[in-house]
Amino acid sequence: MTSTAAPTHAAPLLLIPGPSPVPEPVLEALARPTQGHGSAAAADYLRRVQQGLLAAAGAGPEGYHALVMAGSGTSAMESALVNTVAPGDALVVVSQGFFGDRFGALGRALGCQVEQVSCDWGQRVPLAEVEAALDRSGARVLTVTHVDTSNGVATALDDYRGLARSRDLLLIVDAVASLGGMAVGLEGGGIDVVFSASQKALAMPPGLGLVVFSERALEWRRKLGQPRGYFLDWVNWLPPMEDPTSSYFATLPTNLLAAAAAAVEISEAEGWEARFGRHRRMARALRRGLRAMALPTMAGDELLGDTVSALALPEGVASADLRREVAAEGVAVAGGLGAWSQSCFRIGHMGATSLPELLTGLAAVEQALRRLGAVVEPGAGVAELLAGWEAEA
Ligand SMILES: *Cc1c(COP(=O)(O)O)cnc(C)c1O
Repeated sequence: MTSTAAPTHAAPLLLIPGPSPVPEPVLEALARPTQGHGSAAAADYLRRVQQGLLAAAGAGPEGYHALVMAGSGTSAMESALVNTVAPGDALVVVSQGFFGDRFGALGRALGCQVEQVSCDWGQRVPLAEVEAALDRSGARVLTVTHVDTSNGVATALDDYRGLARSRDLLLIVDAVASLGGMAVGLEGGGIDVVFSASQKALAMPPGLGLVVFSERALEWRRKLGQPRGYFLDWVNWLPPMEDPTSSYFATLPTNLLAAAAAAVEISEAEGWEARFGRHRRMARALRRGLRAMALPTMAGDELLGDTVSALALPEGVASADLRREVAAEGVAVAGGLGAWSQSCFRIGHMGATSLPELLTGLAAVEQALRRLGAVVEPGAGVAELLAGWEAEA
């Protein structure tokens, strides 16, 4: 017999690096009646989301544009290149992991001469190598990943900001795994394009590609002439981004806009700076708890961002088995990506994630490890997480 009812699935605690847990009021906003994309309601949602993005990225009130479109982080990433490079242009891509590599692949797909500067996962690319690649290639556009979600390593953005200013480059920052959870610091200058996605540290449902770009980046786009894209062309989006009630380019997912606006409201009530502080506190406390369970991060603590941790697996425990047993406790953790697919598992600690959720996550990992035959001291991780939380207050 086949069931005609729509399937319902249990709600797992999402401790994966996106999608992250979506707060109840945001889900409720998602279920409000669908609005027209040119309605006053949609315009209001859009404006709130744009203001939230600019504030999250640290942009001042002037000089930046915020683009919100149906898509994901990858579409936002593609728009960053479509609007700034032409086929044959040199492009320097700094890759510290899986998503850095994706930028290289995207640049090649768009016909650029990509100079990719990579390092072993868990390290940072030395700035001198980036300078050498810039000298070699003559590139004017440079991409970096703020936090590479595959290993948790964060880029020292200040170094790149300085480099971009001194060489008059256009710097593009992939902040998919950081925007809303860590400062990007547009106000410091030197960064022209920052992009993200709804489902990570902004704690919105998946489905939106988000881009903040400077007036200078827009001029750069205009000088390109005809870009290699249409849906992703910022110039097409400008009128509806400024006033969706009087101009149409492509339909916005208005239910998602309502949800995103509700998520921004929650972030603003917390305060962006406070939110960044909470992410730092969560990252440090959680890693302390994990260390007490003999689960160290794959990269050195001093290199890590605050939103995701890649953790070494205990001897004899396979990533897929660990994930399955953790899932049996109602918690989702992620496997490794690319080069680290078998050697680690990952925990996301971003967005609306709370201390009780982290405690639940650690307890689930502990249960799973015990079932898989690993030796863990009962409650040691949870106790250290709590101690770390207090120490970071
Ligand atoms: C998740 C992620 C992406 C890709 O985003 P999608 O929404 O999956 O397309 C790109 N860069 C980073 C750093 C990410 O974490």
